[in-house]
Amino acid sequence: MHIDKIETFVLEEKLSKRFYFSQWAYESRKICVVKITSSSGEIGWGEGYGPAEIVASGIKYLTPIVLNNSPLENELIWSKMYRASLDFARRGVLMASVSAIDIAVWDLKGKILGCPVSVLLGGVQRKKIRPYATGFYFSNLESPFDGFEEEAKKYIAKGFKAMKMKVGLGVDIDYKIVSRIREIVGPDIQLMVDSNHAYNYREALALAHRLEPLQISWFEEPLSPEFYGQSYDLRQQTTISIASGECEYLRFGFNQLLQNKSVDIVQPDICACGGLTEAKRIASLATTHGVSIIPHTWGSGIALHVATHFIANLECIPGRLIAPDFLIEYDQTENAIRDQLTSEIEMKNGYINVPNRPGLGFEMNTTALKKMTLVHEQFT
Ligand code: MG
Repeated sequence: MHIDKIETFVLEEKLSKRFYFSQWAYESRKICVVKITSSSGEIGWGEGYGPAEIVASGIKYLTPIVLNNSPLENELIWSKMYRASLDFARRGVLMASVSAIDIAVWDLKGKILGCPVSVLLGGVQRKKIRPYATGFYFSNLESPFDGFEEEAKKYIAKGFKAMKMKVGLGVDIDYKIVSRIREIVGPDIQLMVDSNHAYNYREALALAHRLEPLQISWFEEPLSPEFYGQSYDLRQQTTISIASGECEYLRFGFNQLLQNKSVDIVQPDICACGGLTEAKRIASLATTHGVSIIPHTWGSGIALHVATHFIANLECIPGRLIAPDFLIEYDQTENAIRDQLTSEIEMKNGYINVPNRPGLGFEMNTTALKKMTLVHEQFT
């Protein structure tokens, strides 16, 4: 049995209302999805995180070395893709293309073997995962609080016990926004902040100190992902945990973060860091430093399902009798691709249940796929 066909789909859906974060505004959602078909007729789906057309081009570049391999030998396929990218792209979008293919191969392998990906990864350490809502993007920069009260209430009604909000507009305004949200959600909701590397060291330190009394679970990307040393310095100066990694790639990149003691939590995006094959290695590496791993998840239902299987398999270090909840990022901002492309992930009583069907365990909505596809290419 071998890989017979690879197809790329660049999907796009316009947003009903643009939203901002510290770097730019989103007007639409655009995602590259890959479909891999085996000679036995089984299908695997994957997704890359990054500019969709470039991810699709990367997949096209990799197809000659992926076609005709056995879908059961995912590590061999991964090594060939890594060798074909190392000279040009030790980090960046080509790695998202590698990730998309790798994820599709895992889905395919699971379907061929009749086994959920979480079991293929080594086993289900937990059957339910605690989702945190990612939201509170800015719809109006003149009045950044607009809609936040309704948004917080909506998340609480859905059963979320943890939420992550955007910061990065400036230290004073950030402090006002976070204080307001803490007031709205009360003391029992876990609250995180994410500046998407908006600050220099002094600003990040000033904001961290002002936020300390507000019980913030982590400060995500306070600084540029290039500044490993400053991130270490910041960790020494604040009681808030520092999280980063969505702009990091491969175990070699994460080794930089870990060896520099830059973070308390690493956040690889499985659809960019090198796929499931590499994310598992990154997780092992993080455990050797006693650092937690909570993946960055932003995309379609494929990305969400991938993260669910991955987190279900994560080892709890240190172990203990009553295990802590593991968290999964669940983006709640407008995204028709996430809502319509795949069967929905089940959220009940504040938890996501780990799918137990073969592969990644979702149904593809082929009508939605067709409707949202901007460009479709196939390679045999
Ligand atoms: Mg982030």
